[in-house]
Amino acid sequence: MTDSIFSKIIRGEVPAHKIYEDDFVISILDIGPLSEGHALVIPKEPAATIDTLSDEFAAAVGRVLPRITRAIQKVTGATAVNILQNNGADAGQAVDHVHFHIIPKFTGRNPGTGLMIDWTPGSLSQDEALELGKQIKRLL
Ligand code: AMP
Repeated sequence: MTDSIFSKIIRGEVPAHKIYEDDFVISILDIGPLSEGHALVIPKEPAATIDTLSDEFAAAVGRVLPRITRAIQKVTGATAVNILQNNGADAGQAVDHVHFHIIPKFTGRNPGTGLMIDWTPGSLSQDEALELGKQIKRLL
């Protein structure tokens, strides 16, 4: 459990540009947007990282993510969107309260804005995949 800036926004103690709210979730415009329309979807449960979020609040986020994304795309004219969710400082998480970024991309407009991904694929052998998969499945 954590009492972050997002908990203060949820409680109304800190102002934010709120674009959506229900019993489980709020959505606000990001104060430091990577592109026009960059927004955050935040479960009201004060879990720091996704692995500690309850199924109920996770489902509530999943329920509204597509709808909020559609609205942002329609208003901004975004041609593509990245959904980003960081967990832990090593993954770039700055605020210790689960949140999903909706980050629009624009083809032919606003070049250089939005999420830039440095993605260097590795490889996965058959043996490795079988062993890893077996261990993970045991916990699910
Ligand atoms: P992350 O690195 O995934 O933890 O991202 C945290 C995000 O929260 C950043 O994109 C910040 O710009 C954003 N942020 C921090 N404080 C506020 C705030 N008071 N209102 C809106 N967005 C915020």
